[in-house]
Amino acid sequence: MKTLDCLFCGMQVARDAVRCPKCDQRLADQTDGHMLTEDIAHQHETVAQAMRKFARLLAEADLSRAAAVRLIVGTGLIRERVLEELSTLQHRGEILAYDTEGRNQGSVVVTLRQR
Ligand SMILES: [Zn+2]
Repeated sequence: MKTLDCLFCGMQVARDAVRCPKCDQRLADQTDGHMLTEDIAHQHETVAQAMRKFARLLAEADLSRAAAVRLIVGTGLIRERVLEELSTLQHRGEILAYDTEGRNQGSVVVTLRQR
C-alpha cells in the first residue's frame, strides 16, 4: 500500500486517505512549503507541449505537496494559454491563487496550499 506521512503528526497514512486517522488533518491541504519551478516556454515548445509540461508539473506538485509552483511562461501564446487555464482551475477551486511574479510578466506563481 502506498503511504505518505501526515505532516502534522507524522503518522503514515494511505495515499488515498482524505484525513489523517490520528489527528484528523485534511491531507490534501498539507504542505512543507516548498515551491517547484519549471521553464515551459524557452526550449522551442509548441503550446501543446508547454501545456503538457504544465499539467505534469501540477501533478508532481500535488504528489509532493508543494505550496506553490513557479512557471516561466515567456510573453507569447504559451503565457496566454496558461493564464486561461489557471483562471479555469481557480474557478473550480483546484488552485488557491495565481499572479505574475512582481514585474516579471514572464513568470507566474501559482499558490496551491497555504502554509
Ligand atoms: Zn496526522
